[in-house]
Order: sequence, then structure tokens, then C-alpha cells
Amino acid sequence: MERHDLNILLVEDSAFFGRVVSERLQQDYGFRVAWAKTLAEAMAVLDESADFFAAVLDYNLPDAPQGEVVAKVVKRGIPAIVFTATLNEELRKAVWINKVVDYVLKEGIGSVEYVAEAIRRLQRNREIPVLVVDDSVAFRHLISSLLQVHGYQVHTASNGREALTLIGREPGIQLVVTDYNMPEMDGVALVSALRQQFGRDQLAIIGMSGQGEGVMAARFMKSGANDFIVKQNLLPEEFYCRVNQNLDYLAHVHHIREAAIRDPLTGLHNRRYFFEAGPQLYANAKRDLVYLSCAMLDIDFFKKVNDQYGHEAGDRVLVAVAEAIRGRLRKTDLLARMGGEEFCLLVPSREPGMADGVFEDIRRRVEALQVTTQDGQSLRVTLSIGGTSSLGGTLEEMLGQADALLYQAKQSGRNRVVSDT
Ligand code: GH3
Ligand code: MG
Ligand code: MG
Repeated sequence: MERHDLNILLVEDSAFFGRVVSERLQQDYGFRVAWAKTLAEAMAVLDESADFFAAVLDYNLPDAPQGEVVAKVVKRGIPAIVFTATLNEELRKAVWINKVVDYVLKEGIGSVEYVAEAIRRLQRNREIPVLVVDDSVAFRHLISSLLQVHGYQVHTASNGREALTLIGREPGIQLVVTDYNMPEMDGVALVSALRQQFGRDQLAIIGMSGQGEGVMAARFMKSGANDFIVKQNLLPEEFYCRVNQNLDYLAHVHHIREAAIRDPLTGLHNRRYFFEAGPQLYANAKRDLVYLSCAMLDIDFFKKVNDQYGHEAGDRVLVAVAEAIRGRLRKTDLLARMGGEEFCLLVPSREPGMADGVFEDIRRRVEALQVTTQDGQSLRVTLSIGGTSSLGGTLEEMLGQADALLYQAKQSGRNRVVSDT
């Protein structure tokens, strides 16, 4: 089970429903739940501590039959999800006016899942920067505040040109919500420009425009938008569904991509990624833009670790060694677990001969490691490294050279760096 260590306030008078919700949230999702059965109890809980990540509120309580609890909880700055047994227009309006995260109809176990999902999204959203582009101050404000309620980091721009400048400074933005009609650069032109820079696996775009511009949806989407909203009929629940769907899609793609390019044990990149990203570093070195060094690294007598302490201890060693190597590297370096206990490293640098110091530091870091096994035994390992700074004719040739030097390091006693600089 995942652990979230998030405090959730549950206010629910039904003993049955309250128990189901609180058990599901605690046992299946790992949230910590404080359960109050009345408005008065909820207020007492909040007076003691307002440290709640989110609140799940029954609209209808014995001492607060008209949803009074909602405003009181939201006022304390806690994102609220409202549970209701019935839904009508009046209740919808009353709920949204309080800037809640969402409302959920009490319809069996599916609604509990929906709530848990909503809480997890709130948590995720804090890491997600989004951009709202509209020349109308009122609409910019409306869309921004809807997004803020869901915890996003919201940026704003008042036309396409401004939006492009802003996204240049904030390249991590994952969602752009943009109006069509704007001075300087309209929404469709903005979408086209954004799609030159950001693929559908990196950025979601939702276009908006006024009523009666029926063809606008198609124009936006043909330019590369993922979705479209008519501003006049903007329903919060629909807006949130579209935003969630688009960002969930990005998260899925990211997840699948990560699974394809990483080694699950150590979290390092794998061989596949190495041969995706390596050629660019190599090409830059060939064009004299950077110096490049390449190393093959292999744990010494690793088979003995497995034989003596077991496979699980071997895995711990791999994780610890991977962490020790990664800890010495810069963002621009490329490290991959190529298989077994063998790693490959590409180090670009502005000056020649920089990498040998890095290789030697890595060797020392691994030598100094103490790995504790599951039954409390402490063990140590060493690392042999073959490093080359001569580019050769191809990246594969460079790897071959590093491998030959690694072989020399093994032959001449292990726990050493053999390099050709
Ligand atoms: P040398 O110093 O010459 O490199 O000797 P070595 O024992 O380290 O090399 P060898 O290639 O003979 O053994 C590598 C061992 O690594 C054999 C294999 O069972 C083990 N191994 C490979 N992948 C994993 C893994 O994911 N987990 C564990 N625990 N062991 C692994
Ligand atoms: Mg080995
Ligand atoms: Mg080996």
C-alpha cells in the first residue's frame, strides 16, 4: 500500500457511510483520517489543529442541514470535497460558490474511490505548473481560481505573445488553457507555436472561445489543442473533468515512458535510454562543442556477494552503488545500468581531463560504502573502472575502448581506475 501521511478531515453523520469511507481512505490509500460526526465536532477538531490536507464533507449534517459545514471548512484554507445524497441545481450552485474541489454523489463504493482519486490528484497538482491565457481579466481570474482550488501552480498571460515568453522561462508548464480572441497573438496561433516546441507527450492545451463560434473547436484542435471549452457554458465540473483527463493522460504517458527507460531496481536509466541519449552527447563532442569521456564501471567479485549473503543483499549493494555513483554526477552526465553489475557513464566537460577525477571519486565513494543486509550484516564492495577520453570513430568504438580498459583494471588487481588520458 502507498503511504501518504496526509491528514484528511471527514465530516459524516452516517455511521455506516462514515466507516466505509474512513476505512477505505486509511487502509487502502494510506491517508490519516479524523472523523467528526457533526458540524460542532468538526469545528472542535479544527480548533485543535487545522493541519488537514483536504476535507471530505457531508452536505447534510444533523446540526448543519444546508451545507453550512462547507463554507466553514473552506474558510480555514482546506480544500473540500462534498458528499451529497441528492443533487439539484440549487445545491450545485451552493457548492461551487464555496470554491470546493468537487462534489460526489453517494452512490456506493465507486464514490469513495472517486474521492480518494481526487485527494491524490490534489497532492500531485502541487507539482504541476499551468498557464492561463486570456485578455479578459475576469475570465483569466475565473479560470485561474478554479485551477488554484485544485492546487495547481497557476501562471497567467494576457495574449499569445506574452504566453510564449512566459513558457520560455517556465518550460515545466504542463497545461495551457487559452482563449481565442486576443490582441498581439490569438489562441490558435499560440497553439501552433507551442506545438513547434512541445509534443503532446509534454504539454496539454485546452482552447476556449465564445458561443456561436462553432468552428473554433475544430480550428483549435487542428492546430494541436487537445480539447476545447465554450466559455459561456463553462461548468466547473466539466472544466475539471477535461483538465483532469488531459493531465492524467500526460501522467500516463510519462509513467509508461519512465518504465521503458529506467531500471526498476536502481532507478537509473537503462541501456535503451543510454543509446537514445548517448549519440547526441557523442555528436556534440565530435563537433568540438564539448569534451567527452566514457567509462565502463563494474562491481568487483559481485558474484561472491550473492553467493555469500544472498541475492537480496546483492540487490541492496546494486542500489547503494548506483546511488553512490549518481551522487557524484552532474545533470549533464549520462549514467546507465547496462545490465547485471555493470554501469556505463558519459561525462561531457568544457575542459579536457576533467573526468578522471570524477572516476576516481566514484571509485573511492564505492570503496567507502557500508551496505547493511536484511539480517543486519555489514558488507563492502569495490568497483573497477575503465575510462577513455578518445572519441574513436563511433560511440560504440568508444564503449569498446572503455571496456578494454575495464578489463585491464580487472586484470591488474581490481578496485582501480584505468584510463587512457
Ligand atoms: P568481476 O570482479 O570479474 O567483475 O567478478 P564478478 O563476480 O563481479 O562478475 P560476474 O560477471 O562473474 O558476476 C556477476 C554476477 O552479478 C552474476 C549475477 O548473478 C549477478 N547479478 C546480475 N544481475 C543481478 C541483480 O540484479 N541482482 C543481483 N543480486 N545479482 C545480479
Ligand atoms: Mg563484476
Ligand atoms: Mg560482470
